[in-house]
Amino acid sequence: MDQQERTRRAAAARQATGELAAKDVTGVAVTWIDTSGVTRVKAVPLSRLEHAAAWGIGMSPVFDAFLLDDSIVSGRFAGGPVGDLRLHPDLDRLAVLTALPGWAWAPADRYDQEGDPHPLDARGLATREADRLAAEGMAVKAAFEVEWAVSVGGGDDFTPACAGPAYGMTRLTERSGYLRDVLQALSAAGVGVEQIHPEYAAGQYEVSVAAEDAVGAADTFVLVRETIRAVSQNHDLRATFSPKVLAGGVGNGAHVHLSLWRDGANLMAGGEGRYGLTSAGEGFTAGILSRLPALLAVGAPSVVSYLRLVPSHWAGAYACWGLENREAALRFFTGSVGNRSQAANLEVKCFDAAANPYLAIAALMAAGRAGLAEDGTLPEPVDVDPVSRDDVTPLPSSLGAAVEAFEADAALREALGEAVIDTVAVVRRGEIALFDGMEPEEIAARTRWKH
Ligand code: GLU
Ligand code: MG
Repeated sequence: MDQQERTRRAAAARQATGELAAKDVTGVAVTWIDTSGVTRVKAVPLSRLEHAAAWGIGMSPVFDAFLLDDSIVSGRFAGGPVGDLRLHPDLDRLAVLTALPGWAWAPADRYDQEGDPHPLDARGLATREADRLAAEGMAVKAAFEVEWAVSVGGGDDFTPACAGPAYGMTRLTERSGYLRDVLQALSAAGVGVEQIHPEYAAGQYEVSVAAEDAVGAADTFVLVRETIRAVSQNHDLRATFSPKVLAGGVGNGAHVHLSLWRDGANLMAGGEGRYGLTSAGEGFTAGILSRLPALLAVGAPSVVSYLRLVPSHWAGAYACWGLENREAALRFFTGSVGNRSQAANLEVKCFDAAANPYLAIAALMAAGRAGLAEDGTLPEPVDVDPVSRDDVTPLPSSLGAAVEAFEADAALREALGEAVIDTVAVVRRGEIALFDGMEPEEIAARTRWKH
């Protein structure tokens, strides 16, 4: 954060302030996501936005070591009471939250008081990974699919807000005003919604949004969730994005769609490889596939994630890839004839919304980049339900196993840095201890309203 960047951010803030005032905005919520996937916030009145953009808003670094119940662990790189960070709102991503009248939102970049990026700032890590790919002439386009479940009433129990059949028109009709308001608020926030539908579980819906650059996709994921949460509240409903709302039900995923681009061409299509993959597209995909157990430590990062990540729930619980295979952790998607050069992409199904999306996308890019460097090749795709195959391995069935794989992965360590590896491991182990000995229903109940 040099003087030039401070000046640039201040100028952007001056311009934004006038526009926001004309839209009756009074305050700006500046969010970042902690290691546990919880969205934390500091807010400023509009009159203070310019100062915040240039000089940041003070915030303790201790939040990197928060668990989802707000208790704090202490690691080598995070967890103490000393120190301060500056949260700089990125006004290039400013959005008006029409469902929260008077409020706008911007994601924070976290810097220290010397003006250096905070090594544990996940948005900064995602930016750095995107820059590394750019240095190799490549870029990722990404989108997070948002699944959520809506409960009636304000209590902590979950009572589904609609009762009709899965994917049933009844469920749209039952909550048509709510879903209309979700669409309106997302559109007003500048989110490109592609579709919205009732999902499998009672009270569950899903929204798909347009692909964009990697950091933008993570920002959008945060904005979509906070918008849905606000609209839900306005309808006296409560939204949960938890990976497993009820221990016995179907979970909420946060599938990540990824494609790799070079010189305007989608490297997931038009090549000589299987299903049209180019060798770069294959290497990138292979880098992710071979590191899935490690990647779960950031993509399925909560104890509750492993209640969701089970066979026969379309959660992608198997370490394999396959064309349009909804039980494979990596579902490859070519799109339809005529549109493949645009549409082909890889869907990482095993990730959920307890993930810090910036950390998740940074780790996926790092794994893909390692696959490119290794000239990685893919094994045979799996084109049946993997449950029927003895030679397909399930993904780790516990958070502890995923953390061990994460700590052991040299490429992720190199890309993300020692501070990130250590802090993620310490926080995950803290949550494993927190939930130790609890029954699935209690784990689900205690996680239900956190993300
Ligand atoms: N709800 C499923 C999950 O937990 C995904 C369903 C789907 O394929 O959209 O990931
Ligand atoms: Mg879905």
